[in-house]
Amino acid sequence: MNILLATSEAVPFAKTGGLADVCGALPIELARLGHSPAVIMPAYRKTAYCGQTIEPMGIDFIVPIGSKMVTGHLLKSSLPKCDVPVYLVRQDNYYDRDELYGADGKDYIDNCERFVFFSRAVLEAVRLLDLPVDVIHANDWQTALVPAYLKIEYHAVPRYEQIATLLTIHNMSYQGRFWHWDMLLTGLDWKYFNWRELEFHGKLNLLKAGMVFADSINAVSPRYSQEIQTEPLGCGLESVLQYRRNVLSGILNGIDRKQWNPAVDPHLAANYDADSVGQGKPICKAALQEELGLPEAADVPLIGMVGRLIDQKGVDLVAKVIQQWVQTADAQWVILGTGEPEYHDLFATLAQRFPQKVAVQLEFSNPLAHRIEAGADMFLMPSRFEPCGLNQLYSLMYGAVPVVRATGGLADTITDFGDSSPGAAPPNGFSFREYAPQALSETLNRACDAYRRPDLWAKLVDTGMRQDWSWARSAKQYVELYQETRSRDWGLGIGAKLKIEN
Ligand code: ADP
Repeated sequence: MNILLATSEAVPFAKTGGLADVCGALPIELARLGHSPAVIMPAYRKTAYCGQTIEPMGIDFIVPIGSKMVTGHLLKSSLPKCDVPVYLVRQDNYYDRDELYGADGKDYIDNCERFVFFSRAVLEAVRLLDLPVDVIHANDWQTALVPAYLKIEYHAVPRYEQIATLLTIHNMSYQGRFWHWDMLLTGLDWKYFNWRELEFHGKLNLLKAGMVFADSINAVSPRYSQEIQTEPLGCGLESVLQYRRNVLSGILNGIDRKQWNPAVDPHLAANYDADSVGQGKPICKAALQEELGLPEAADVPLIGMVGRLIDQKGVDLVAKVIQQWVQTADAQWVILGTGEPEYHDLFATLAQRFPQKVAVQLEFSNPLAHRIEAGADMFLMPSRFEPCGLNQLYSLMYGAVPVVRATGGLADTITDFGDSSPGAAPPNGFSFREYAPQALSETLNRACDAYRRPDLWAKLVDTGMRQDWSWARSAKQYVELYQETRSRDWGLGIGAKLKIEN
């Protein structure tokens, strides 16, 4: 099967979060399974420094954006150590900027225009590159217009008729909502600006466009695919998803084992696997403590956290619990992340006041993220919601026992230490349900109690490290979904169907 993955980020070209990990790893597994994937994404400024060779193709194109005609160029590269092609759409006015989506905490004001352009470029690239495509796999709001353009503008064009579309929702809370006049930028007829299609409370909603027009939709975990059909995690679009529930499913993300594997990880002080974790992990823990200026205490539980410091990640709970714990508990905290200024201030102050217990790095550092997974005894993810979550999967592999809130992908992957219900997977971590500091604190206490019983703890670590969360597993499910998607005949999409029914 020929799959064109349209995305706004992919490792190693550009990354702000898990979306990039998925789009960098899934195509490699698809190729390994005998399929022919290709990736298409914007050529940002930082893309030039990704370490991969990028070559111009000598192919220019022009698409309408509102009343303008805008030119773009196609560049070609490939994913590392394989021949999966990556096509980069160059348009320097839109993408030659420091960041992907915004700077100084504010989105770029022309984000709608930037991704309308990119979505049109994806469809033009199919023709210009003479690409055989069975399925276009769109991801999140940035590429959600692709299924709409395909159904509305290209459905009768030879070579496009057979293309099916899948939209993957990585995070419902980012929908690409813009003021209604941006409808003009899309070039689509105003008749599509209605509550069944592109309109959402008077605004243009790009994610909704994809949800309405894609042949299939999936979320990045089975639990999250259920949660987004209800309030509050549907973020206002729950009824659209309920309506499309027959084509909505959930597939967990996987681990890119080339990037994340403690047995060969070049960032670690010692390499180890499930058999040698007892020797390797203490070395990594001591090295992490030394690197961050914490006392080298082998027996004190070290709690790690890596991620965006925003409310979604439960940072408000951590902020409350850590202030209490530094006064009363014998534990060390290592926090790596960037996000909301109030959390930067709070964590930086705590690190200053309690240097024996708290180490904080307010930056984006991939090598340090690896060393935290290897050095931490426990890994904290008390998310308010979590579409899939990758860090808990890395933690399992690195023998850092996850302490999570049971939501979305965290609920699908982490079985609580105390869960002995029939059919439950073997315990591999600690989880709690109620979104409250007290619940997090109690769960951390349970984890610390277990940590003091070495045999028990070793069993927990061993269970997690031997589980298979590789992309190989998830890629097979995507292949099945692509096949199902191709066999679906949605004609002109749900919008048209709803009109017929009414
Ligand atoms: P999300 O996509 O919501 O940010 P995920 O857990 O799915 O959360 O993926 C986050 C990815 O980004 C992981 O690979 C994680 O290691 C990485 N990451 C997030 N913040 C940082 C940071 N400050 N430094 C290094 N890596 C980070």
